[in-house]
Amino acid sequence: DCPVVNHELKESSELFFEREKGILIVISGPSCAGKGSVCKIICRKNPDLRLSISETTRQPRNNEKHGREYFYISKECFEKRIEQGQYLEYATVYENYYGTPKDYVENLLESGFDVILEIDIQGAAKVRTNYKEGIYIFIVPPSMQELKRRIEERGTESKEQMEMRLNCAYEEMKNADDYSYIVINDELEDAAQRVQSIITAEKCRTERLKNKIEDILGR
Ligand code: 5GP
Repeated sequence: DCPVVNHELKESSELFFEREKGILIVISGPSCAGKGSVCKIICRKNPDLRLSISETTRQPRNNEKHGREYFYISKECFEKRIEQGQYLEYATVYENYYGTPKDYVENLLESGFDVILEIDIQGAAKVRTNYKEGIYIFIVPPSMQELKRRIEERGTESKEQMEMRLNCAYEEMKNADDYSYIVINDELEDAAQRVQSIITAEKCRTERLKNKIEDILGR
């Protein structure tokens, strides 16, 4: 008798092979919760991790550099790039456009790099529909008083903008439930360590390592 050839099984094992691709890590949270600082620390410690640099129509802050924190482009350019389908996701946040470059992120993932997106809750919701296997982390301040203090201390926004960011923060905090992990940023190094631990544990998940078992067995 001819053996049954199970194509379905073959396809699913190919799927696992595809998971050799990098992992997408999405970090959201209110303004001044410390997302950027946490991301910088973990990127420094992980050579296989890349931070996606977004494009925005917001003006650069004094200490920011084109191509480092963001690519600063005009509203017209941004809208043209939306039409051309250049963004993995984009959103209007605090009255400016922010968008994730699609090709850049997808190429990195294909090449096996893990990629961090530091994006707002609207952007995270869009990404979640296409990247269910991503890691979704919500970074929050230890208290709203502390968040207010940090926004004022940074002092890069006008009084009205600081108020808008604080008001939005109350709304944004309600979305914590949509994330798989919450990290309270009371002390920066500790928070970064917790995010690192989450990534490390996620990389050991059975579904990500199943094909390694075959390698170990020498099949
Ligand atoms: P900021 O102006 O403080 O740099 O960023 C404002 C907000 O926009 C932050 O919550 C930040 O995470 C978010 N953001 C930055 N880049 C992107 C992006 O490419 N897409 C989306 N949806 N949000 C972004």
